[in-house]
Amino acid sequence: MGNGSLFPIVGTASVPGWSAAEGPVPRITSLLIKPVSAVCNLDCAYCFYLDREADPYQSLPGRQMSFETLERLVDTYLFYSYPESVFAFQGGEPTLAGLKFFEKLVRLQTEYGRNGQNVSNALQTNAMLITEDWCDLFREYNWLLGVSVDGPEPVHDLYRFNKGGRGTWKQVMKGVEVLQRNKVEFNILCVLSQANVEQPRQIYRFFRSIGVDNIQYIPLSEFHPSGEPMPFTVTPEQYGRFLCETFDLWWPDRRKVRIRFFDNLAESLAGMKPGSCTLHESCDSYAVVEFNGDVYPCDFFVEGGWKLGNVNEDSWPEIARRRRRREFAGKKALPHQECLKCQWQSICHQGCPKFRHAPGRRFEDLDYFCQSYKMIYSKSVEPLRNEVQKLLGRSAAGAGLSPY
Ligand code: SF4
Ligand code: SF4
Repeated sequence: MGNGSLFPIVGTASVPGWSAAEGPVPRITSLLIKPVSAVCNLDCAYCFYLDREADPYQSLPGRQMSFETLERLVDTYLFYSYPESVFAFQGGEPTLAGLKFFEKLVRLQTEYGRNGQNVSNALQTNAMLITEDWCDLFREYNWLLGVSVDGPEPVHDLYRFNKGGRGTWKQVMKGVEVLQRNKVEFNILCVLSQANVEQPRQIYRFFRSIGVDNIQYIPLSEFHPSGEPMPFTVTPEQYGRFLCETFDLWWPDRRKVRIRFFDNLAESLAGMKPGSCTLHESCDSYAVVEFNGDVYPCDFFVEGGWKLGNVNEDSWPEIARRRRRREFAGKKALPHQECLKCQWQSICHQGCPKFRHAPGRRFEDLDYFCQSYKMIYSKSVEPLRNEVQKLLGRSAAGAGLSPY
């Protein structure tokens, strides 16, 4: 496929969706691409992709993005997103797509990218398959990797198993060593579960001891259909305490260690758009692309009712204008009594619809982690705001805050 694809990207005015009265259509500023859908080489006990009834692709064999879909995706998205194009790969385990798939990707990006276009690639992996050859590609094209590690061996191996039910820590750490030896930039994605949420000090010290300076903590929040939390799900109080204790540990290291939650909060206090969608006003910054080209508004809502289109059939402007995208984007702003009177509303923006929806399957509910947010905002906003003031000046540091 060549640049003939300029034609469909133009789209048509008759597509039902955002009307002029509703203001400009927000751009899709990054893509989260799932080249092998939710297929994985591990069998982690807490994985929300496993046995998920709503997954529309669960029973399909051979879930792997074809080169044709990849080419169509790269060609059209580079055109649509010029001059900043962000491709992030996730799974399941995206490295199962094979090194050739990603080598083809960068060739296509080189072929279809325009002068001055800034293209960045990121990949979230369990690091089980990482070898020197992968590192050559990642280093040459400056990829940012996220590696899933939940802490030291006994903690990590409590839930992160291979298909034979055995722990994976040793193999993951070999992958981490290969990345470090080859000077590939990576951060750690640490899932907080009942295995580690009571150990913020041990977890932080462990990551620092292996030379990690960029950490993202994700709290587990999986529920039975009855609304009961699953056994590994953390309580709001546990998550709040974890964040508060981690904040104290991190504070002396704040100029050299990046913890995504605190960085995003600082960005918000500085009046910048935070990196994390959970602190945005609406859910419309990124899109998920499945292996067959289907597009969704969020990785937590890859289900039939939220499908926005398909890259093989629809142009990006058409996908961006879909009424369903606007409907989803608005879920975050649904008012809740608690949020209406909350002093943190202008930072938090009602939390994340995934955490609002998960326990009772209702978007109108309060975010399950509301208590955690209040705990960490009460502790961290003031010192972070002072820090931002020191770095950026007084006027910038007031931008993201309501008076309190
Ligand atoms: S539902 Fe949560 S994770 Fe999904 S786009 Fe909205 S804020 Fe982000
Ligand atoms: S902290 Fe809780 S009450 Fe306040 S805006 Fe966030 S979710 Fe709503």
